[in-house]
Amino acid sequence: MEKFIKLGITEPVLKVIEDEKFEKPTDIQEKAIPVVLEGKDIIAASATGSGKTLAFAVGILKTTEKKKGIQTLILTPTRELAEQVSEAIRMFSKYLPLKIVVVYGGVSINPQIDKLRSADIVVGTPGRILDHMARGTINFSKIKTFVLDEADRMLDMGFIDDVEKIMRQCPDYRQTLLFSATMPPRITELSKKYMKSPVKVSAEEYVDTKKLTQVFYEVEDELKFSLLVHLLRNEKKGLVMIFCNSRRNVDFVADNLKFSGIEASAMHGGFTQEKRSKTMKHFTSQRVYALVCTDVAARGLDIPGVTHVYNYDIPSDSKEYIHRIGRTARAGKDGKAINILANRDFVNFRRVLRNNDVDVKREQMPFIEKVKLKKVQNSGRTGSRFGGKRSSGGSGGRFGGQRKSSGSGGRFNSQKKSGKRKYSGITNKA
Ligand code: AMP
Repeated sequence: MEKFIKLGITEPVLKVIEDEKFEKPTDIQEKAIPVVLEGKDIIAASATGSGKTLAFAVGILKTTEKKKGIQTLILTPTRELAEQVSEAIRMFSKYLPLKIVVVYGGVSINPQIDKLRSADIVVGTPGRILDHMARGTINFSKIKTFVLDEADRMLDMGFIDDVEKIMRQCPDYRQTLLFSATMPPRITELSKKYMKSPVKVSAEEYVDTKKLTQVFYEVEDELKFSLLVHLLRNEKKGLVMIFCNSRRNVDFVADNLKFSGIEASAMHGGFTQEKRSKTMKHFTSQRVYALVCTDVAARGLDIPGVTHVYNYDIPSDSKEYIHRIGRTARAGKDGKAINILANRDFVNFRRVLRNNDVDVKREQMPFIEKVKLKKVQNSGRTGSRFGGKRSSGGSGGRFGGQRKSSGSGGRFNSQKKSGKRKYSGITNKA
């Protein structure tokens, strides 16, 4: 606690920190909180999971007063992140009488209009905020602090022009807090245009890479789904996230997992906001243990208790890969990232491996049973051509569990890399 007190955090927030039993500030909190409390602009390089929400919450909870108009605006790239951030701010402000309102698209606008009339802090996504601006149902004239969360994601998702339109409407004398894992040129340009002598801080991710194991399996297309089922049944597990590259594959995997008796929920942008929120609630409360999702749906989420991340499809670049695997090995816990490679994944996997920070080792193919599928997809993209009971493995088959883990049979050969690296162990470069 002493370290938190030294940072200058105000009493009502200190009480919450005590309730939450946080032992010491995270790296970003130590670096950012004094700057934020001084009222300076800040550019902070830190990802979700670093404890950054508390880093900006201490500032806004010090300056925001009850019923004096909207004094804080926090922009996030996705609805789920808006929910997550607003929940966190609600928690950190539990001893303060402030009203926090979350606004995003995909749900009815009228209840939001009502709530905005008495909001002190607003958390929202750019599209819906612009909508409220156009209707005149949001007033920015009293804004003291503007927080841009996951700025680089805003750019990736094509929201940056919307963000700029919103920034232009906020009073000039506001404090601006910008959080971004990376600083692409467009974000730098935005910061030069709209920020006042920002202090730059960067912090290590809270994800502990020493506690993160990354492995891959090479598998025939027809056994891809069966291997997933085998691993889900045999790996020691907490919560599990399974990433696919398309909504169609998410539906395919989730449907067939349920058919195989494995509790799973699907989450992608094709579902209504209501369904997405319900799915997240079930997952975070551990009512289902496997969440099958696309990248967009899971972006930036911090879900405690995720022990395994599966890449059922390999993402097309290393940035997305690192984002995905960062859902596990958080807050000092162990985590494992498992890549299931079939023919269609090799091109993407090569791209991912171009990043020297990706350190993944081959895992021996276990003996597996071929799983019966609920429905057959005609493209064969998800290994759905097979529905039979034929079992794989055994000494005669290619996937007999006999192949050496670093053997020459696979396309990706493991080799030790030297030099300074963020991750330790064996690296694969293809
Ligand atoms: P964030 O990066 O803000 O999404 O925070 C990630 C997680 O870390 C959240 O569940 C926070 O409640 C938690 N957290 C934030 N600060 C600390 C801290 N100093 N010690 C332990 N956990 C923390």
